[in-house]
Amino acid sequence: MDTAVFVVGAGPTGMMLAAELALAGTDVILVERDDEPSPQSRGGGVSARTAEVLAMRGLVDAVRSREIPRDGAGAHFAGLPVPLDARPWRTRHPDGVLVPQNRLSAILEARLGEHGVAVRRGSGLTGLTQDDDGVTATLAGGGSVRAAFLVACDGGHSTVRTLLGAPFPGRSGTMSAVSADIDLASAADTVARSATHFHTLQRSGGGYWMLLHPLDGEAGGVDGYRVVFGGPAHPPAAREAPVTPDEVASALTAVHGPETVLGRLRWGSRFSDASRQLTAYRHGRVLFAGDAAHIHLPVGGQGLNLGIQDAVNLGWKLAATVTHRAPDGLLDSYHAERHPVAARVLATVRAQGVIMNLSPEADDARALRDIVADLARLPDANRYLAGLMSGLALRYDLGDQDPFVGTRMIDLSLRTADGPTTVSELLRYGRGLLLDLGRPGPTTVEGVVDHVTAEVLDSPVGTDLPARRVLIRPDGYVCWASDDPAASPEPALRRWFGATAVRHGV
Ligand SMILES: Cc1cc2nc3c(=O)[nH]c(=O)nc-3n(C[C@H](O)[C@H](O)[C@H](O)COP(=O)(O)OP(=O)(O)OC[C@H]3O[C@@H](n4cnc5c(N)ncnc54)[C@H](O)[C@@H]3O)c2cc1C
Repeated sequence: MDTAVFVVGAGPTGMMLAAELALAGTDVILVERDDEPSPQSRGGGVSARTAEVLAMRGLVDAVRSREIPRDGAGAHFAGLPVPLDARPWRTRHPDGVLVPQNRLSAILEARLGEHGVAVRRGSGLTGLTQDDDGVTATLAGGGSVRAAFLVACDGGHSTVRTLLGAPFPGRSGTMSAVSADIDLASAADTVARSATHFHTLQRSGGGYWMLLHPLDGEAGGVDGYRVVFGGPAHPPAAREAPVTPDEVASALTAVHGPETVLGRLRWGSRFSDASRQLTAYRHGRVLFAGDAAHIHLPVGGQGLNLGIQDAVNLGWKLAATVTHRAPDGLLDSYHAERHPVAARVLATVRAQGVIMNLSPEADDARALRDIVADLARLPDANRYLAGLMSGLALRYDLGDQDPFVGTRMIDLSLRTADGPTTVSELLRYGRGLLLDLGRPGPTTVEGVVDHVTAEVLDSPVGTDLPARRVLIRPDGYVCWASDDPAASPEPALRRWFGATAVRHGV
């Protein structure tokens, strides 16, 4: 074997996965087809749950230091003029983080570097075979790599998916739209001067729908604009056809009038509303994560979040599997848990597509929008939608009737014998965590689960919890909970962490 795990594709999913594996001490090679990091930034931000996940790995401060400030924005559902309030979900990051994807990728690559993992660029996978013991991947240029497992994080047009002929059912795109970063030579008053709530940035006219918002420069001030547009006046083009300055200029004039003049097209790409998902995330020793496993219209900024959370669900399970300490079925729980999550996102995105109806003349859709907007203003409905769009409402079905089991652990502030800390800080090393809440006490660091006794401190996420004893997986989800001091977490320890966790006596 050249490595334990071979990761294909250094987008956010592949880099997060490689970082998770390296954190767990697993040998990993990460290859990327492109020679240079992409200057394009498709994704504009991460959701509240992804921000929590980044906090769990000590990355959220770096990400926040490169975010674009936005004034009282909040997430949206279907572009409706109703900010979603995620605070009832008890999160420290209710608005997520508006960080361009390329800045996030740079932070993830720096983290990989800290683990001693370099992205091998200019190294596209072109072929693969697998047998009972491992996978052999062929690379452009003729080299090959042998690994125990291969994870395809090679995006929506996954080479690995094609090579395996993996079923990817769903539907093809019914429209084509453009996303581009531009400079404006001049801008009408209708052009937003700061990034605020999504609905204030949308406008339609002349047969186009458009989203136009300024991009903040890292040194401060506005540094160009992001424009996204489509509509009946915009004829569908082949996905790979270059975006032209003329088509961008025409759309700008149609929507924002002749005073809005294109200065420069920095880059542009096309996307569609194609909606597909792999039937199986695991094919023998090959697994799939991120856009390689699911594609959908990028409404509501979900793809990047799905990919990062796929990676964080898979990383510790794969690390345990390659070191032969994984309990039976642990690796297969990746598909069982993550497939329904993406299926739900695909359905939610399709529903939003109907409500948004990207055709500007759609009166029926406008009537539907008004009703859904009224509903979204009701506190319970707003909370529901905020939980859905932020990923905070996710509860994995772990087969336990207790409604707390399977949910994300709240990032409580704590005091242990070592001083103040938080749940996310305790999860920083990607290990399991058995938390006993009461008085501050010692921490036992043994095996793959830490046992921490702590007092709960007041914080913005509150102090109460449905149980005082909680077992938390490395991905931050509760897998056992009890209020009974005599109850034993042993069956859950065995199920998620294997016999060694029990032998170590936590
Ligand atoms: C216009 C637009 C706006 C979006 N906005 C948001 C948003 O705001 N929030 C959000 O969450 N998501 C957003 N998304 C979605 C988000 O960009 C994707 O979901 C995300 O990039 C997926 O990450 P990934 O790592 O899975 O795949 P990718 O980012 O596509 O990375 C795959 C990588 O694999 C490499 N690769 C491909 N083939 C090979 C090969 N054979 N060998 C080696 N390497 C290979 C590619 O070069 C690439 O670097 C948006 C998408 C679009 C189109």
